[in-house]
Amino acid sequence: MAKNPVKRYAMVLDSRKCIDCKACIVACKAENDVPLGVFRNRINAEHGGAYPRLRASFDPEQCHHCDNPSCVRVCPTGASFQREDGIVQVREADCIGCKYCMIACPFDARFFNEETKVVDKCTFCSHRVDRGELPACVETCPSKVRTFGDLNDSGSALHALLESRRYRVLKPQTGNGPQLYYLL
Ligand code: SF4
Ligand code: SF4
Repeated sequence: MAKNPVKRYAMVLDSRKCIDCKACIVACKAENDVPLGVFRNRINAEHGGAYPRLRASFDPEQCHHCDNPSCVRVCPTGASFQREDGIVQVREADCIGCKYCMIACPFDARFFNEETKVVDKCTFCSHRVDRGELPACVETCPSKVRTFGDLNDSGSALHALLESRRYRVLKPQTGNGPQLYYLL
């Protein structure tokens, strides 16, 4: 089958493998020079049960690089935009710091960077992806929780996972079309 030349990057997460080591968070901060006190990715932890039957689950999350991103729709200057390959970014020079996009994002994926004075978020490490490398969080994860790839490449590991496993996306009711796929 011919490969679709247009890429659509996405990420599959196998949260059950996550051990909450936070190596992905450290790798992201180092790779992207994220200031102290703010983060481009996070681990949503849930604890439950009663001793001795305790439960814990860890769901990594970051920008979902939505198909229909509300952050882009509300940006008055065009600073928030979506690349042809689906990656949603902020063009720093055009951002006026109004924070509309932060309010419009249903995933709380954005923050205001006090050092650069513009809104900031995960870029799927597009600078690395453009060099043919993986996002820093993907490369660093010791449990191989994350699989990054091109949805339009039927030969990709990401495509194979989505074909063979059941999965969910967060907040599908928003209509944003989030592109982080959580395996069930
Ligand atoms: S998760 Fe939020 S910041 Fe990321 S593309 Fe979707 S709406 Fe925009
Ligand atoms: S804060 Fe920047 S990126 Fe966000 S809506 Fe305003 S101008 Fe656009």
